[in-house]
Amino acid sequence: MLPVSLILGDITQSCVDAIVNAANTSLLGGAGVDGAIHRAAGPALLAQCRLLGGCETGQAKITDGYDLPCRYVIHTPGPIWRGGSHGEAALLASCYRSCLTLAAEHGCRSVDFPSISTGIYGYPLREAAHIALLTITQFLYSHPEMEQVRMVLHTPEALRVYQVDWNMFYQDVKPHD
Ligand code: ADP
Repeated sequence: MLPVSLILGDITQSCVDAIVNAANTSLLGGAGVDGAIHRAAGPALLAQCRLLGGCETGQAKITDGYDLPCRYVIHTPGPIWRGGSHGEAALLASCYRSCLTLAAEHGCRSVDFPSISTGIYGYPLREAAHIALLTITQFLYSHPEMEQVRMVLHTPEALRVYQVDWNMFYQDVKPHD
């Protein structure tokens, strides 16, 4: 099993089988990483998204990548943070699991994630990092065919928080840089 990689970057530049979009339930585009992905993919992405009929929080739907360097975009609406007692943690874990399951079903061997829900949706970064790394690591243990999963963090602060979580819980497994 390969561990998760933690990198600083812009997910619209990722040359992988699938990138994940931290979308909203309409799947019709938005701000943050969602806006960046739609701008880089071109209008054909929105046209395909219109046919999908939205997506529930914690679930995922897949489209082509169009003008992006990746083959697929997997859209997942993360939970909006409402204090932590509204099922946010289970929904966030479900986002990561649903995306990886869908990716595997489409034969993807490399998947890049943004830090879902930690922008406009307000999920605390430390808690979100822990759920992301735990859920991805658990999935990789049972899916050896998945070759590479990376967290593409957009700010040095986000990268640092993910690295702290990694060092605290996975000391014996070194992340790739
Ligand atoms: P959400 O609504 O799920 O919170 P956001 O897009 O507001 O989604 O933020 C999710 C995370 O994506 C944030 O940590 C933000 O810094 C990050 N982000 C924004 N643009 C990009 C990008 N181009 N590549 C990777 N991550 C990005």
